[in-house]
Amino acid sequence: MTSEARGASDDLNLYEMAVTQWRSAAAAISLEPWITTILSQPKNEIMIHFPVRMDSGEYRLFKGYRVQHNNVLGPYKGGIRFHPNVHIDEVKALATWMTFKCSLIHLPFGGGKGGVQFDPKQCSRGELMRLTRRFTHALGNNIGPEYDIPAPDVNTNAQTMVWMMDTYMNSMTAHERDGTRGVVTGKTLECGGSEGRDKATGQGTVFCIEEWAAQKKFDLGKATFITQGFGNAGSWASSLLARHGSRMLATCNSRHAIHNDRGIDVEALRLHYDKTGDLSSFRGAEVIPLEQFWRIKADILIPAALEKQVTLANVSDLDVKLVAEAANGPTTLAADQILESRGIELIPDILCNAGGVCVSYFEWVQNKKSEHWELEEVDRKLEAKIKKAYRRVSAFRSERKVSTRTAAFAVALDRIRSAYIQREIFP
Ligand code: NAD
Repeated sequence: MTSEARGASDDLNLYEMAVTQWRSAAAAISLEPWITTILSQPKNEIMIHFPVRMDSGEYRLFKGYRVQHNNVLGPYKGGIRFHPNVHIDEVKALATWMTFKCSLIHLPFGGGKGGVQFDPKQCSRGELMRLTRRFTHALGNNIGPEYDIPAPDVNTNAQTMVWMMDTYMNSMTAHERDGTRGVVTGKTLECGGSEGRDKATGQGTVFCIEEWAAQKKFDLGKATFITQGFGNAGSWASSLLARHGSRMLATCNSRHAIHNDRGIDVEALRLHYDKTGDLSSFRGAEVIPLEQFWRIKADILIPAALEKQVTLANVSDLDVKLVAEAANGPTTLAADQILESRGIELIPDILCNAGGVCVSYFEWVQNKKSEHWELEEVDRKLEAKIKKAYRRVSAFRSERKVSTRTAAFAVALDRIRSAYIQREIFP
């Protein structure tokens, strides 16, 4: 590895990383400079400080963000993250990736993202509810079912979305109220959520892996895989891949890694993890040091935790054929180059985890039409969207001889470009 690669890439902040990624694609399609200029910063960066009454009676001030990157294709769309490391550059990067992700799978949405900087593990349920409601109230008209539509992300879930929905609806008049259910997606079924939204991100990842395997004539029934992060995206991707007969050899969360060479029973692990929130006490695998996780030989690695996890520090240890990015931004630019040079294939995040926003879109449509779609219908529509996008990316990649990541950004960018060329800017 050259020292330039080290200095140039692993150290970039997340937003610089996102910009570098889409700018490679802009070069590949000779994007008009005026469109590059427009896309080079988010349209809006909202930062809010809001007070919350804690269980102790003390009032604490929290910092929250909503970044709206672009809405040329439709309302801003993207998750809300609760994490101590939430930072404006991280939220900008995540919002940027949403713009490209929605374009890539042909959704009528732009890109947004939000977050609150705190550790939800230190809060009671009541504190989480009050914080979520205060944040939603503070966002006010910066969100809305036809303007900007949040969804779950790291450490937020269907319950968080229901609190957001309820808070937003209560700021409307009685006559308007029911028409605003679609202000957030990823809700519980009873409160207007969609069948299949809980598993959608993992399902999308597995649809991508199926397509990869079909193109390579690779038998998933004999495959092995390892999954970093056993939350929503990671546990569902693992569970659905295991249904093909693939064996999970290892997984981890922020505290523990576990390993079993004969394969981990994913369903048993999910039950155990749902009940205890602990991997280390699962009897069907042994605990290994966290850093050893990256050295386990398997066919597929699914990073499903946080950004910047596959780095110069561990990329040379990987012994896999495919990296399927269920997480957003898990691979640094320097690690990307090394994967490429080692012939390790990649399904990039904006394609691999697009299942979540895709079913969020289905939820939004169902809310608008007051409809309820059965799971089979949701799955069928999701599979078609994801696999078509996969094929568009692989066709571009083969034709233009670029990396899969650049191909994905280029296909997405081309659609955004057409919209700008047709609309231009007002006035
Ligand atoms: P989650 O909170 O449900 O799960 C995150 C998991 O990662 C947890 O198991 C956590 O312990 C683990 N983790 C955190 N830090 C870790 C570390 N340093 N090492 C190992 N494990 C670690 O979150 P999620 O919703 O599953 O999101 C995971 C990733 O998927 C994020 O990048 C998110 O942006 C992306 N994503 C999620 C969705 C969605 O619908 N939830 C959609 C698209 C993309």
